[in-house]
Amino acid sequence: MTDNIKGKTVVITGASSGLGEATARHLANAGAKVVLGARRIDRLKALSSELGLPEGSAIETDVTEAGQVKHLVDQAVRLHGRIDVIVNNAGLMPHSPLERGKIDDWDRMIDVNLKGVLYGIAAALPHMTAQKSGHIVNVSSVAGHKVRPGSAVYAATKTAVRVISEGLRQEVKPYNIRTTIVSPGAVESELPQSITEADVAAGIADFYERYAIPADSFARVVAFAISQPEEVDINEILFRPTAQEL
Ligand code: NDP
Repeated sequence: MTDNIKGKTVVITGASSGLGEATARHLANAGAKVVLGARRIDRLKALSSELGLPEGSAIETDVTEAGQVKHLVDQAVRLHGRIDVIVNNAGLMPHSPLERGKIDDWDRMIDVNLKGVLYGIAAALPHMTAQKSGHIVNVSSVAGHKVRPGSAVYAATKTAVRVISEGLRQEVKPYNIRTTIVSPGAVESELPQSITEADVAAGIADFYERYAIPADSFARVVAFAISQPEEVDINEILFRPTAQEL
């Protein structure tokens, strides 16, 4: 399964914790050249040295700044000569009912979960269209398929990620580029910590404690999509903990 992973240059946003970090470990162990982006550079540097990555593989990146995402991708190309995969993974989930009017949280979700993914696409596409190959993996969620009370804005961003990814899939056909949407259920990470309302946070913490599965479950899904032969385009994967009903 690692055959089509080995040697690939893979840029991962949000690689400083949770799903992104697990994916970096998994793919690096499978022989990929991973390049790590997130704001917490200390964490990225520690991960980079633990994985034995070359100097310059950990890049401080705020995905709400298009120029910083471009720098991340361009640096990966400078380091390794090309970019084979970008995993647009950075995100946050500060759930709350709309009536609480948490406008700052709404703005951050739109900026990171939605615009951050678009900036990743914008940064990677010029290289991938020139190469006539590449793979864009966008992280949505079960919330990209279902909305529940308290998750309207998060679900809107994750639904938008799926819509953009499907539009992208059709547009990049002439360039031999693959696109994958990954929609996880509850997976262990720091995501519940992004919730700013104490009562909502307590409910979600309880849910994650009961149901969340290890972050490597996500990494294996990404590895599955990447490892397929180049003519196989895995467009969408939705997965949950076996015990998760909703
Ligand atoms: P974590 O909170 O553990 O990780 C989020 C990552 O996003 C961190 O590395 C963080 O890095 C990064 N990030 C946040 N804001 C920014 C920013 N402005 N610029 C760059 N990086 C940023 O949560 P997860 O690992 O769970 O989240 C990863 C993705 O998975 C998200 O898109 C999330 O919505 C999605 N997801 C997660 C599920 C789960 O149950 N865990 C379920 C469904 C989807 P830093 O703070 O260092 O910048």
